[in-house]
Parts: sequence; C-alpha cells; structure tokens
Amino acid sequence: MRLLIMFLALSTAGNLLAAPPPDGIPRELARQRAAQLSDIHYHLRFALTPHAPSTSAHEDLQFRAKSATDVLLDFREGALTNLTVNGVVIPAKIENGHIELPASAIRAGQNSVAIDFTAPVATAGKAITRFEDKDDNTEYLYTLFVPMDAEMAFPCFDQPDLKARFHLELAAPESWTVISNTPIESQSPADTSGQRLTTFSETRPISTYLFAFAAGPFRKVHETSGLPGLYVRQSQFKKAEAEAPEVQQVTAQGIDYLSKFFAQPFPFPKYDLVLIPGFAYGGMEHAGATFLREESVLFRTAPTHSDHLNRDILLLHELTHQWFGDFTTMLWFDDLWLKEGFAQYMAYQALAALQPDENIWKRFYLSIKPAAYGIDSTKGTTPIYQNIENLKDAKSAYGAIVYSKAPGVIKQLAFVLGEEQFRDGLRLYLQEHAYSNAEWSDLVHAFESVSGKPLQNWAAMWIRHRGMPQVDVAWSCDAQNRIDHFTLTQRDVLDEGGVWPIATQVLLAYPSGAPLRLRAQLDAQSADLPEALAKSCPEYVFLNDQDYAYGRFLLDNRSRKAVFDHLGEIPGTFDRALLWGSLWDSVREADLAPRDFLELALRLLPNELDEELAQALIGHVTTGLHRYVSDATRAQIAPKFETLASDRMLHSDQQDFRIIWFRALRAIAESPQGRAQLKDILAGKLAVPGVVLRPLDRWTMLTALIALNDPDSGALLAGEQKRDPSGDGQKYAYMAQAARPDAATKQKYFNDYLHDPSRPEDWIAQSLGAFNYWNQSQLTLPYLKPALEALPQVKRERKIFFLLGWLNAFIDGQQSLAAQAQVRDFLSTAPLDKDLQLKILEVSDELDRTVRIRQRYP
Ligand SMILES: [Zn+2]
Repeated sequence: MRLLIMFLALSTAGNLLAAPPPDGIPRELARQRAAQLSDIHYHLRFALTPHAPSTSAHEDLQFRAKSATDVLLDFREGALTNLTVNGVVIPAKIENGHIELPASAIRAGQNSVAIDFTAPVATAGKAITRFEDKDDNTEYLYTLFVPMDAEMAFPCFDQPDLKARFHLELAAPESWTVISNTPIESQSPADTSGQRLTTFSETRPISTYLFAFAAGPFRKVHETSGLPGLYVRQSQFKKAEAEAPEVQQVTAQGIDYLSKFFAQPFPFPKYDLVLIPGFAYGGMEHAGATFLREESVLFRTAPTHSDHLNRDILLLHELTHQWFGDFTTMLWFDDLWLKEGFAQYMAYQALAALQPDENIWKRFYLSIKPAAYGIDSTKGTTPIYQNIENLKDAKSAYGAIVYSKAPGVIKQLAFVLGEEQFRDGLRLYLQEHAYSNAEWSDLVHAFESVSGKPLQNWAAMWIRHRGMPQVDVAWSCDAQNRIDHFTLTQRDVLDEGGVWPIATQVLLAYPSGAPLRLRAQLDAQSADLPEALAKSCPEYVFLNDQDYAYGRFLLDNRSRKAVFDHLGEIPGTFDRALLWGSLWDSVREADLAPRDFLELALRLLPNELDEELAQALIGHVTTGLHRYVSDATRAQIAPKFETLASDRMLHSDQQDFRIIWFRALRAIAESPQGRAQLKDILAGKLAVPGVVLRPLDRWTMLTALIALNDPDSGALLAGEQKRDPSGDGQKYAYMAQAARPDAATKQKYFNDYLHDPSRPEDWIAQSLGAFNYWNQSQLTLPYLKPALEALPQVKRERKIFFLLGWLNAFIDGQQSLAAQAQVRDFLSTAPLDKDLQLKILEVSDELDRTVRIRQRYP
C-alpha cells in the first residue's frame, strides 16, 4: 500500500517512473485510470495458427486522456515487438505485467497506440486455451478472461469499469469457424497459406473480461431463424443435434421472459452459445456469445428430468448475465455477488415462470441453500460484499458466498419488498446504468426509491456482515389445547454478536386439516409472535416455511419427535424437503445421531416420489455412511441400502428413479454382492431397465471397483479402455486409475498434479475425487500437508474454481483426528495470506464436524 502511494505520487508528477509498476491491478490504480481515461476502442487482429504455442497480433488502441500523464497498460506473459504512441516509437518493455506509456508521449484528449505483440496459447494455464480433440485430431482455440486474464491475450486496461468497444479481426485456417461477441462483418478469401481473415462488427461498450472469441472446426447445430445459434465441435455434432432444439427453445423463451421482466430488450446484437469441452466453468457469459461447458449440455451420463432442469438453470443463469453483468456491470470485483447472485436468483425465477408445473423454489432450496449454509456456518466465511484490494485476488471472491448465499439473501429481499417492487427496483437499476457500471449501493438505492422502505440496516447485516443466524422457537399450549406462548429467538451461528433483520413465514402443522402459515418479523434477539397465540395447538412448528428466510432453522424437540413419526405422511414435497433438510442440519450439528437419520431414510426413501428430494437424501445417506458413522455401523447399514438401491434400480416404475438408484448403488456398493452387480452391468449381463448407460456411467462404476480393490478391476479397466478410446474415454481412464489403492499411484498422480504443465486442468479436476476416494484416507493422508502447501501455486496457476475443488478433495478424503490435527497445525504455522486461511477454515469445517460427530456417536 505504501509503495503504491509513492508510485502514484511520482506518476502524477509526470516523471519517468522510478518505482516499478505494481503487481496486478491495485484498486487505487483502477480508480485513477477510470478517472483519467475514457472512450476506449480496441482494434485487434490475431493470427491463429494450428499447433502454434503463441499467436502474433496487432492492436490499435484509442482512448481519451484527461491530461498528459503516464498511462499503464496491462499485459503479462506475452512479448512486445513494436510499440508506437501517437506516432512516436517508444521502447517496448513489459515490466511486472504492465507497459508504461510515458507522460511525454501522451496527450490530453485523443490518443492512439499501435502495438505488435505475441500472446501465449496452451492447453492449460493461459488466457487462450487450446483443446485437442483426440476423436478426430482437430484443435480448437478459445479465450477465457475472467477475472483479469484479458491482459494475458492483449495489452489492455483490464478492469471492469473501463468498458470499451472492440473491433476484432481473426486470421485463421479457412476450414475453421470463428465466433465472437458480434456478428461477422466480412470475410476475405483464403490467402496462399490457407488463412482467411474474418472481421467482426464493433461491439457495444463491454468490459475486457466479457470480450471473447473461439475458433476451430466448430459446426452450427440446428440453425433456425429466431433461435440463438449453437456451436459444437464437429466430432460431437450428432449428439448435439439431439439436444439443440430444447437448449435453443429454453434460451429463446428466457430471452422473451427476461426482456419483459427487466423492461429492457436483449442488449446485444446477437446471442450465440458455444459448447467448449472441458471448459473450466459451467458457463461464461461473454456479451452476445456465452461459452458453455460441453459436458453440462451434452450429458455424459444417462440424464434424469432433474438433470434437464439443472441445464435449464445454467442456460438461464448465463442468459440473465447479458443484462445483469454485461449490460450493467459491477464497478469492481468486490461486487461480484451483484451479477452472480442475481443471475442465480433470476434463473430460478425465470424457470418458475417458464415451467409453472415444476416446484422450482423447492429446487432452489435443495440446490442452492446447502452450499450457502455450508460455508456460512464456518469460520472461513466472508460477507457477501468482499473487499478486494487488487484484481489479482479477485479469484478469491468466487465461491458459495456469491453463488449460493447471495441468491438466498436476494430471495429474502424479494419477500421483504414484495414481487412488484422487487421487479421495479431491478428495472430502475438497469435503466440508470445502461452499458455502464454500478455498485451494490446503487441497487439498494433503486430498491429504496421504488419501495419507500429504508434498507440500510438490512443491507448492513445481510451484505456487509458475515455469518448467519440460527432461529429457534419456544412454544407451549394451554389446557384448552391452544397456543399460549410463542417466542422466536436468534443467535449468531459464529457467536460474533450479529443480529439480523429476519422476515419469515412460520408453519403450524396439524395432524388433519390445513396448516397455518404466519408471517413473522424478527429484528431483535427475540420477539413474540402474537398472531400465533390462541391458535390450536399444532403437531409441529417449522420456522422457515417456503424457505423465504436465510439461516439455520432446527426443529424444537417436540416438533422433531412429531416429524420423525410423520415425515412420510406429509403431503407437500417442499415441506418434506425443508424438514429433511432441518433434520440433516441437526446431524451436522452433532445434535442427532447419524444412525437415526440413516434409519429414517431407509424407512422412508422407498416411498419418496420426488426425484430431486430422493436424490438429495441419497447424497446425505452416502455422506452419512462414508463419513459420519463408525465402520461397525456402516457394516450393519450399508448392505441394507445396497439392497434397497438394487431393488429400486431394477423395479421402480419410473425411469428417473431407476437412474438415481443406479447412481446410488454405484456410490454405496462395497460388499461382494454389490460389486458383482456393478460388474454384471459393465459386462452387459444386467441392465437398468429402459436406460442406456453413457460412457461416464460406466467409467464411474469402474472407478468405484478400482477404489474398492475389486480383483477383477484390472481386467475391466483394460476392457473399458479398449471399448472407449475416445478423447473423453482417455480422460475418464485417467480419473479411474487415480483411485488405485496403492502408494505408487498416489505418488505418480500427485506429482502430475503439480509438475506436469501439459496435463489439461480438466483431467486433474476430474480425478481429484478418485484420488481421495472415501475408503483411502490412510493412503492419501501423507498428501494432505503437501496439498495444503501447494495452495499458493494452485491459486496462482489455476482457473477460478479449481482451488476449492482441490481443497475439498484432499480434506474431505479424511475423517480422522490425526488429519484434523495436521490441518490445524498447518493453519497455525504456515505463512498464508488471509484468503487462503479463510478457504482452509471453510473447507476443514466439514472435517471438524466429522470428527465431532464420530466422537459424539461412536
Ligand atoms: Zn454467473
């Protein structure tokens, strides 16, 4: 911080810089540049050559400067060959990821800079990624810049509030298709070397992280006027044809719905979807050209109805960003939640409108809330608003807080404001910040001005304060069987003294007759609910009916007992989901024996008719068996679940259930009989009726057999490799073999993870769970500390979500006191930045809980 101030003082004086430029993009530099620069245009030409380790490129950059001072351009890992500022050649030098344009060359007013440079292209770790398609020996190039990798591809002002117009030209082989943010303006004939130049029309003002291109022998699928374009690599064309109509239809309906909801037409000249294999995220919302992970759209496993709805959510999430993120963009990445929270929330809201027969808010609860509460009850949590001093640390902001807590808190806000005022606030916010940037305080201001409700206190606790409340109830009934006492209290889950303004709906349930649903407001530590008094004595009480509120809502003893006895008879799916969730929270609080939960699940799961809830419960059962109960208890209960899974897989009358129980069997099977069934399925001797298994279904079965050290697994692996030699097959074989229960394998893989730069990041991410298989904690414990020690490297070199995947895999692979001691020791002795400390605290909370649960219920 001090160094930076000195540097800025010098630079305002217009001197040649004595101090080196700063690392990354400090907030202060960003502020200064935003005040100084405007009207930015990038005219870029890249030459894309097959197999080349770099691209050579030319850039014409124009901008207006307020005064003639030094200007820093961001550019790292590339090389400069020529640099001209306002017609004057200046020494081309990159220092600390920046190019200095000296004050002597800059004019107040219009400036133009010409740059020749090269930028790296690689299979991993660069802004321009090469994917090699082993199915037909072709290659594809694509960009992924968020949060600050545009500067790895071209010199730029790589901060979200310096929006610019981009004019892109791509020279690429004639057989390649090229896609970018805007429509193609013109295309030249191929030259003698077979390269063809494509020019795209100029973009609207967009942030650097939203600029993108992709190139390769992509094919356009199911081209239909009025529907968004869908591109896929040529080897997957047939598979994509089957999925395209649904994908395009949902997107088109989403565009229609969101345009009306936001009262703002689609803000860019066209919208394409590009499927990228092994893409590091589910999707990335480049303005006018969303890139989607191919695996999230073309299912690698036999899909259920629920998988289709999850895909719709992904499509609608990225689509919402075209307004919320691309059209109106956060000023800085500390407001990341603004775009992610709203994209997530609006995806559900849009799907609820498009599919009114689905219980989308139950889906929201089951898919979003566990991760939110999961992080928010740990010492590693952060407020939704996360201060980011330097853009190079922006990766840290990505995680459950912005993707899960923020949409959960937005749902609470919509409940507080009411639907109409919520919608009008969003409309006002977008209207006031069209093609521009805004902060969360602008949004709060918009909501306040349409609703007339003061929200400062609300925002202070929900946006700026970390953690969450636990809400408890004390209630009793009188001799006439009427409620005579009903008090809500809240406590800060982290014991940090927080008191939140909570709006909720309380459910009073009766053995016969409709339940009562009462609105309640809890702004203090404790409050009575007068509306409940004199009501008939309920069978049980639940404090977060319909999941409007955000927090931990455990059942009081009387209610818990009633729920245990009657959960199977409760007709509402959403109600059942919430009550199961509350019981699971009690297990995780070491307040309910995991065995009791498992036995309840064993009793009720066979009759659970909601696919998504059944899937969530199977997930809890798997965690319970593999982490929370003792080996002896698992030995008693796991075979019962195996039998149940096998029976439902074969005999359930609904295909979706046969699929989810097949997945359950694969996750749970460990007995010789269970393994024999998996082997029979692999050999084709046993089938899941009516279901055609897909390659990843098979590879995952094989991974389990390898991890369980099944004597036939070696032969089965060889057979599967022969059967599926595709590019995907090679990746999955890499995954499966990581599960081998021997020390040499672990050593080889761990070395690969950290020291083989040619290994695609996606292969590593895919194999981490197999490496740390639940039954191999003794073998993997020696890698726990090295994995923690590697965190700074992982953070530096890998894409955004990799770090959490890494930490989760290595820490969740452990259940013991010894592992817990290692993590704690590392936390207290290693010199770690604050962000990494928080991440470890976040992830190791699950290990702490596991140890606590196993001690309490041995
Ligand atoms: Zn997003």
